[in-house]
Amino acid sequence: MSESVPATSPFDNWSDETCRSLLGRLEAMGPEELLRWAVSEHGDRAAIMTSFQNTGCVMIDMAARQSPKPRVVTVDTLRLHPETYDQIKQIEERYGIVVERFGPDPDKLRKMIARHGEYLFFDNKAKQEYCCRIRKVEPNERALETVDVWITGLRRDQSAARREAPRVEFIERLGRKVLKLAPLADWNLEMIEAYVQANEVPINPLYLQGYTSIGCIICSTPTMPWEDPRAGRWRWQKDEADSKECGIHLDGSGI
Ligand code: SF4
Repeated sequence: MSESVPATSPFDNWSDETCRSLLGRLEAMGPEELLRWAVSEHGDRAAIMTSFQNTGCVMIDMAARQSPKPRVVTVDTLRLHPETYDQIKQIEERYGIVVERFGPDPDKLRKMIARHGEYLFFDNKAKQEYCCRIRKVEPNERALETVDVWITGLRRDQSAARREAPRVEFIERLGRKVLKLAPLADWNLEMIEAYVQANEVPINPLYLQGYTSIGCIICSTPTMPWEDPRAGRWRWQKDEADSKECGIHLDGSGI
């Protein structure tokens, strides 16, 4: 596991103009070039942070072609599907890497369950967000402290809330400037599937059962062909598309 962290990032003192100029250069790069740049310029301070959905696995495959051991980080909520845990093992074997796992703080988790029960997310939106904060968002923040370049599998076609997701941006997290890259933001599902097939990338078998977005067990379910890919998240909630985010990608105000 990579060492934990300088409280600053190398981008903190960059001027707006320098940031803009780098973003312009990166925006012009294709996904492989972007991944190569991230690893060669930032080494272990650049990490693919993934929940092992197909876009993340495509990025791991691309990155492994650029660097023998790309750094791969995941948030283990301790409530993932058994198929996802198998998938992580398969990816580790295939690419010869050890996936770094960040999990919920045991004390906070114990208190949450003692007070609200294991299935609090059924009660209301606030408790679902509380559960997501303890199991996903906080571990993700801890993981983010160990990177200067956050590489994500966000795609614009995944939901209405993600339609404007930038491919490259600087965000502010915990007082540090982090470069957030979504190398496949402008790829669609067909492009992802074609890459998976052409390169025999191992994918989560839940996709074959109708899942189009895979998170925690119970909270993610299969979708129908006419539904938004993230519609299977928190099925019992009747809110609009913005209820389909756990918070990991929401509070990093782009700068
Ligand atoms: S997706 Fe469900 S189980 Fe997972 S952290 Fe969020 S509310 Fe909790």
